[in-house]
Amino acid sequence: AKLLQRAGHFYFSRSMGVDIRERVRLMHALRTAYEEKELFVVYQPQIDLATRKPVGAEALLRWRTKDGTFIPPDRFIPIAEYSGLIIDIGERVMREACRELVRLRDMGYSEFTISINVSQVQFRHPRFLDTLRNVIAETGAPPSRIELEITESIAMEEPDVLIQLLCQVKQTGVSIAIDDFGTGFSSLSYLQRLQADRLKIDRSFVTEITGSSRGSSIAEMVIQLGRNLGLSVVAEGVEDERQASILATLGCPLAQGYLFARPMTVDQLTTWLKDNGA
Ligand code: C2E
Ligand code: CA
Ligand code: CA
Ligand code: CA
Repeated sequence: AKLLQRAGHFYFSRSMGVDIRERVRLMHALRTAYEEKELFVVYQPQIDLATRKPVGAEALLRWRTKDGTFIPPDRFIPIAEYSGLIIDIGERVMREACRELVRLRDMGYSEFTISINVSQVQFRHPRFLDTLRNVIAETGAPPSRIELEITESIAMEEPDVLIQLLCQVKQTGVSIAIDDFGTGFSSLSYLQRLQADRLKIDRSFVTEITGSSRGSSIAEMVIQLGRNLGLSVVAEGVEDERQASILATLGCPLAQGYLFARPMTVDQLTTWLKDNGA
């Protein structure tokens, strides 16, 4: 089911086919939401597992409607992709995240990184590279502190086109993380060609590590793969201390999850960073 969900709007339109009116309603509501600033970005800290200090944060989109209801990104992002609105929304997220990065740098968090999710539709749009360069130039954000998260499923289609695009993206100085790594089927040689800097272990594999089959866990394989290829690794969705300590023992450098911090607004992040000694 997870794979289907992630495969994007094709499956979305099929599975939601019966509910086309609801989809159209959401599509209109999303356009209004975009115009009226009901969309905003929250940040979830990423932690160095050895020192337990924050090293960066992932930008995550939120939609709060006027009546105060939260609509989860898993529900509205497929619609944003399907309608093309993700191009504008994604650009806004990128700009906001870069502004936040500059703000944090000016507060003295000069090493802090921001990770930005990039949808497949956005990434493949002909203007993506220009948009990225413009946002960096306008905000003055340090490219070396920006990371773009793309999913493994993006990474599998039209490898040659993608690899060329990734090359150009990397020339701007930003780094690339493969999100939800392990849920797709990309080959190892292909992974090397992608020139990714970081792998993100999907939450489903983190949940698994406290189970009985931990000796052969996928999380452990990804951590070793990262080490062998010289890539950084982040475990996502770490919810309890047992998971954190197993990951640390396995040599996983970074983690993110409710155990450390939930996604938070910019103001909350500032306070949280002060309290947690970045
Ligand atoms: P993702 O990129 O895999 O993001 C991780 C999700 O796990 C986030 O859900 C985060 O809030 C949640 N999470 C973090 N720690 C924990 C934990 O310890 N336990 C549990 N159960 N969950 C945890 P969220 O914010 O609902 O986002 C869902 C998905 O929506 C994201 O999955 C990403 O694919 C997409 N998304 C969110 N923001 C954006 C965006 O700005 N652009 C694009 N293209 N996609 C986005
Ligand atoms: Ca992500
Ligand atoms: Ca993820
Ligand atoms: Ca995930």
